[in-house]
Amino acid sequence: MRHILLAAAAIGAAASVALGIPTQPIIDFDNNLKALSTSYATPAGPDTGSAAGAVPALEALIPAPQPGAGDTAAAADGSETATAESTAPRERIEKVRRGDTLMTLLARAGVVGTEAYDAVKALKTVFNPRNLKIGQEIKLTFAPSQDEDGQDLHSLSLQASIEKDVSVKRADGGDFQSAQTGRVLTQSLGRSGSLIERSLFKAGTDAGVPIEVMFELIRAFSYDVDFQRDIQPGDSFEVLFEQTHDATGRLVRTGRMMYAALSLSGNLLELYRYEPRDGGPQDYFNPKGESVKKALLRTPVDGAKLTSGFGMRSHPILGYTRMHRGLDFGVPSGTPIMAAGDGVVELAGANGGYGNYVRIRHGSSYTTAYAHMSRFGSGIKKGTVVRQGQIVGYVGATGLATGPHLHYEVLVNDHQINPMSVKMPAGRQLAGAELKRFNGAMGEIERKLRALPDPFTVASAK
Ligand SMILES: [Zn+2]
Repeated sequence: MRHILLAAAAIGAAASVALGIPTQPIIDFDNNLKALSTSYATPAGPDTGSAAGAVPALEALIPAPQPGAGDTAAAADGSETATAESTAPRERIEKVRRGDTLMTLLARAGVVGTEAYDAVKALKTVFNPRNLKIGQEIKLTFAPSQDEDGQDLHSLSLQASIEKDVSVKRADGGDFQSAQTGRVLTQSLGRSGSLIERSLFKAGTDAGVPIEVMFELIRAFSYDVDFQRDIQPGDSFEVLFEQTHDATGRLVRTGRMMYAALSLSGNLLELYRYEPRDGGPQDYFNPKGESVKKALLRTPVDGAKLTSGFGMRSHPILGYTRMHRGLDFGVPSGTPIMAAGDGVVELAGANGGYGNYVRIRHGSSYTTAYAHMSRFGSGIKKGTVVRQGQIVGYVGATGLATGPHLHYEVLVNDHQINPMSVKMPAGRQLAGAELKRFNGAMGEIERKLRALPDPFTVASAK
């Protein structure tokens, strides 16, 4: 991939494309990816968010399809009622409003009493009406009534999920019968890439990369890249991700990110998704088989701005120059502070100028410390075992602090080191048979990538 990214950077083309991606049937996709695959519901881990969490949010963003909406524009104002003059079945689309139940929606459409009750009862065998979403469309059809003037509900149908449609229809005997049909979905891989003009996130969304994928990419690189400082004009990114389209070609779901690359000032960083066979969590690994997750986080608060670095400075309260042996992150009071790595709490309490202070031991040589907290995380006390990303306290201004910030220290054998300049201890390194399997998986991802149009070639050919 190196030549592609660097070539694009050299050309300086405004490479920003969303590619039309060839699609494959579901079955092929699953077979191809079996070695790398877990279901969408697999959580990605506490500090990386989860694909499962992203999916409902995505669904909420996607408007429901409009089956037959073109035929029923007249009914859209919701004022139409069935009339005795009609003879052919008529169709009506009713949208779910805030506070609606299926019964209130049917009543609005003129379906009441046992007719509504029977239809809902039949529908419940294939769909839980509690899962209706605001704005969702319910298609109703009406037929002339058998025994009196007016119209009877003939059928009711809706999209129950990305995967299926459900309906109830009046059978010959007059009872409602339910049915469900699978929707035609196509899973494929999407490849995209672009030069980064301003921010990586903007470059990604401009290139048509789904937001969830950009978040995952940024999370995966955040262990190695300081996005506020390291992105320069001419840098670029590339990404390969799973996607699902419906029969109309609309993107209905994004899956996992399989590959991501950043070219930063000529340095190429590449990540491949891999799930170790030995039961370790699926994760992103660089081409050497090293997990992107470091044993320690450089930045243990979200959205942090580094306000004071490591080194000599004039102390804002003491007034004289002295060594600043940590990093200060300016974040609002109350911001959660995460454990930088797995470990055991060595100290949690008031500690002089440090104010409320937590120190965590990570193995034999590394410890991390967090100062000026407003309060401690729940259950955080001496001896508590913590996981990376667990909340150990909240930002405050206790001790010698002019305002709320996190003072963060990384210590090696009880001496503070500069977390920004020292390479953080590595996370997992694949070895032996596991590394061999990873190399195979990496080759497979490379093949899939090459099978799709190169976003940089496409853009520079314009
Ligand atoms: Zn400090």
